[in-house]
Amino acid sequence: MSWVGEKRLSNFSDITSHWKNELRNRSHDNMLEMVARGTSLDDILNIIIKTIEVEDNSSFCSILLLSEDEKHLVMGAAPSLPSFYNDAINGVEIGIGVGSCGTAAYLKERVIVENIMEHEYWKDYLELAVKANLKSCWSEPIISSDGKILGTFAIYHQNPRVPKKEDFDRINFATNLASIAIENRKVRKELEYRAYFDFLTALPNRRYFIEQSELEISRKLRYGGSLSLIMFDIDHFKILNDNYGHKTGDLVLQKIADITRSVLRDIDIIGRIGGEEFAILLPQTDINEAKNVAERLRLEISKGIVKTNKEKVTNFTASFGIVLDTKNKNIDELLISADTALYEAKNSGRNKVCTFNE
Ligand code: GH3
Ligand code: MG
Ligand code: MG
Repeated sequence: MSWVGEKRLSNFSDITSHWKNELRNRSHDNMLEMVARGTSLDDILNIIIKTIEVEDNSSFCSILLLSEDEKHLVMGAAPSLPSFYNDAINGVEIGIGVGSCGTAAYLKERVIVENIMEHEYWKDYLELAVKANLKSCWSEPIISSDGKILGTFAIYHQNPRVPKKEDFDRINFATNLASIAIENRKVRKELEYRAYFDFLTALPNRRYFIEQSELEISRKLRYGGSLSLIMFDIDHFKILNDNYGHKTGDLVLQKIADITRSVLRDIDIIGRIGGEEFAILLPQTDINEAKNVAERLRLEISKGIVKTNKEKVTNFTASFGIVLDTKNKNIDELLISADTALYEAKNSGRNKVCTFNE
């Protein structure tokens, strides 16, 4: 009788484990499909956690992401842990003794803490763990395909516990999927960046400049106010390239971009709209203010210095055309008007600022 009972039990557990595997395979495929479709990282990480928590319903899971400076952990997903706990963990600096996750991210290795109350890694977080009623925490680093740390995946329980084989299967399942999802988002972000920003100067490219400017122009149409546009073009840049080489020309472009960023306000929209042509949309700026900005920029550029291994290049300048939007022009019309003024600046000696006259 007892044998039958045990046999039945073992068959039952075989079936449940078969179904668990089946479910996990299905959710694995579903999640890969979601990654391919570009579903938000938040959603994917939450589903990974829910999948594990459904399998082991006494567990609480979290995914933390390594910050860009690679020194902190920020919240990825932890839907079942109390929010006061998540708030306290969000942004912690990684290191030995920063709970299981901070230590795992720092050491780049799995950290199994059977009993939080007795473990040295948790000394500084005991009160928090007690308040959240957490007793064990196993943390596994999430590693990218090229071996870099992306974050941590952790399983907590409310009693002291060590992982069994099936727990390690779950941990591997979760970290593999999380790694794919996080890496995918990184690649997408990088592609998005490349589509909108110029590689050499890190300024918005023509397309992004126009997109941003159109938003600002429609804001002005709705709420009123003034708006000006500056266009500038490096003087005799071809000669500079011929004299010093294309690489030095590139350094001059970068220098000019840096100067432009430092002179302008955060709300101004700057773009590299051509090889050596730049445009700046100045919201809430009348023509006198725009003239001042252009004049200051012209002066700063003319004082710019670029140092190479061989020499110091100081003789670069730019010419400027500016326009005040008095006729609710669209961005193309504003650029044409500013270009007309810029043409005048080029033809009347360069290294100067000219204003478009309607
Ligand atoms: P102007 O004063 O009339 O504007 O003369 P310019 O020589 O600056 O104008 P032109 O249009 O004749 O030449 C522009 C030069 O800018 C030619 C091109 O090789 C250079 N240029 C465009 N993009 C880049 C770049 O990314 N890097 C470098 N080094 N040069 C560039
Ligand atoms: Mg030029
Ligand atoms: Mg040009």
